[in-house]
Amino acid sequence: MTPLTNAQDAAAGAMPPQSVVSCSDAELVAGIEAAEQAVRTAMVEQLRLIAEAEHRGLFAEHGARSMIVWVRELLNIDHGDAKTRVVVARNVEDRATLYGETMPAELPETAQALSEAAISVEHARVIVDGVRALPEYARCHMVGEVESTLAAYAREMPPRELAKVAERIRYLLDQDGAYRDEEAQHEARELHYTTARDGMTVIKARLDRETGVKFAALMQPLSAPRPEADGEKDPRTAGQRNADGFAALLDLALDSDQTPRVGGQRPHLTVTIDFADLQRGLGFTTDHGMPGNLRATDRSITAENVRRIACDSEVLPMVLDGDSLPLDVGRSKRTAPAHLRAALLQRDGVCAFPGCDRPPGTPDAHHIHHWIDGGTTELSNMVMLCGHHHRVVHNTRWDIAIHNGRPVFIPPPTVDQRRKPRPGGQAQPATHHHDFRDLIPTPRTPAGKP
Ligand SMILES: [Zn+2]
Ligand SMILES: [Zn+2]
Repeated sequence: MTPLTNAQDAAAGAMPPQSVVSCSDAELVAGIEAAEQAVRTAMVEQLRLIAEAEHRGLFAEHGARSMIVWVRELLNIDHGDAKTRVVVARNVEDRATLYGETMPAELPETAQALSEAAISVEHARVIVDGVRALPEYARCHMVGEVESTLAAYAREMPPRELAKVAERIRYLLDQDGAYRDEEAQHEARELHYTTARDGMTVIKARLDRETGVKFAALMQPLSAPRPEADGEKDPRTAGQRNADGFAALLDLALDSDQTPRVGGQRPHLTVTIDFADLQRGLGFTTDHGMPGNLRATDRSITAENVRRIACDSEVLPMVLDGDSLPLDVGRSKRTAPAHLRAALLQRDGVCAFPGCDRPPGTPDAHHIHHWIDGGTTELSNMVMLCGHHHRVVHNTRWDIAIHNGRPVFIPPPTVDQRRKPRPGGQAQPATHHHDFRDLIPTPRTPAGKP
């Protein structure tokens, strides 16, 4: 029997005998497992054939640059896949010497596990790479031990986990080499960011292990999915959640007292806009104002969004008069003192929006009646909102009122035709608020209950 018919028989044996629709659940599971065994068995056959083809130098005869390129073209697969098959074949097949004798495979235990269909070719690739990464002396004296350890683990864990075990072994046997690698990784660190033509910022980075783990540790809680209060799943994509988490991270950094100062000021977002435009910039009228300008990137931003940004009492908008000279619109009028923020947190939590369960980062102190239209900076005109709900309130027609000292949210007709008011603030269970409490740099001791 030729190797090829062997593989075909194995594949045929994996097929459920009857139509998949009529087979039982147990048969289905067994069928999926059997198919995987058949794929692995067929792969072992292919490795054998690839090793023999390389021994014969077929790739050169066919005009290919290398064995890997030849296999890639022949099978129409990715370069990485072709490399895995060729490299594994070299290490698990018996080798013929120049004198026609047969030498045993370089990695016999891996070959054995492969032939039992107990591991996949990807597992074998991890073992090959793991052995190759060993330092010179270990490669001479400890290959057998390392290989059998990895081959045993390979039977129990997926390739990605196996790679971590291989790395651990390497770190134990070759601390100098591992240290050199880490230094090289640190040298290769890079982060680039640029403002694209459309005004969005594009970030691309490769961080060393240490920085990467810090980044992941900070990002994970801030970008975790948050189901809605009614159990509906978080509608944001993973990319949107990461972007929101990163935005929250930036807010936290800006609000910490340790950020370096630029010109004696914390590097808060600086926006310039003409006073009249800011006043006119109500999102729902056709009479839009001229846009504002983001100082750091020199890009435009709509008056509607400047109103939202400037609404937060912590942000310092640079409002200009008609001659583009800074206008003092009264910082004291819009800046909530620490005791007011503390009282808002006490009354509203991180976000007062009914049922809010989003990662808040730094909350925004929203003026119900905008300060630029004469709204006051006091408890009765303010409400704490997370970044997401601050946008919702500014961009859609939610109305907010204070009833009996607590915020009440009146949905727009598009959300609820009867516009039934919904209680907000701490009246609502907001499970996540406790998790993030420590992240908020604002003083937390309430000056007095409202
Ligand atoms: Zn606001
Ligand atoms: Zn919210």
